[in-house]
Amino acid sequence: QGSLYLVPTPIGNLDDMTFRAIQILKEVDYIASEDTRNTQKLLNHFDISTSQLSYHEHNTNERTPQLIEKMLNGQSVAQVSDAGMPSISDPGVELVKAAIESGITVVPLPGPNAALTALIASGLTPQPFYFYGFLPRKKKDLVASLVDLNKREETLVFYESPHRIKQVVEQMVIVFGAERQIVLAREVTKRFEEFVRGTAPDVLEWLENEQIRGEFVLIVEGNSDIEEEAPQSWESLSLKDHVEEL
Ligand code: SAM
Repeated sequence: QGSLYLVPTPIGNLDDMTFRAIQILKEVDYIASEDTRNTQKLLNHFDISTSQLSYHEHNTNERTPQLIEKMLNGQSVAQVSDAGMPSISDPGVELVKAAIESGITVVPLPGPNAALTALIASGLTPQPFYFYGFLPRKKKDLVASLVDLNKREETLVFYESPHRIKQVVEQMVIVFGAERQIVLAREVTKRFEEFVRGTAPDVLEWLENEQIRGEFVLIVEGNSDIEEEAPQSWESLSLKDHVEEL
């Protein structure tokens, strides 16, 4: 039986490809890629001649059983997304679930990931953190999610596109308040890598004065000001009634 390898790829700097990732991509029978043209450039760079099959959100239903059958027949498959770790705000999890159900061995490789790479340089407390990925697109849903996230004490980690980031930070100033620390990690591992750190209004001001380009991870300090609920007294606990009944 073949295995399913989950292979992270660089998020901007090709030198971040690991030796093991190259070796696995050379050895497997197929590479399941989110975008075969994009991955072909990576394969050419590292002299990898393995055949690719496309695996993206629009062909998951047909492709998953085909790939499972190949692995059950002894062929091995490596899954890659366009950048970073497969399954992390990218296609992949359906294939992993199906492989586990079919008893196929799943082998994850460590490697590039935008969220963790940005988090360790943010200067915000990394433990505990809450990875959210992309916030909802509609304004109403966006605000509802932020209201919900406002209750969390963990450091919050988001992915965001350059044309929406200003709108998102604007809403964060309103919902989270002016004191919250925010870090924008822009173009991580690339030539124009930059970290913008400050309160939510500081970061919003930066966004208002910049031509916003590139890829962003948005990291937000957790809520340190959550009001503790008044502890319940022993008498008010229904457990006491229950105990007395016994
Ligand atoms: N699977 C990827 C990973 O493991 O990080 C994430 C894929 S998700 C579709 C793409 C988003 O990740 C971008 O919109 C951006 O928010 C973030 N991202 C990817 N590369 C980045 C980089 N070099 N610098 C900052 N953010 C990046």
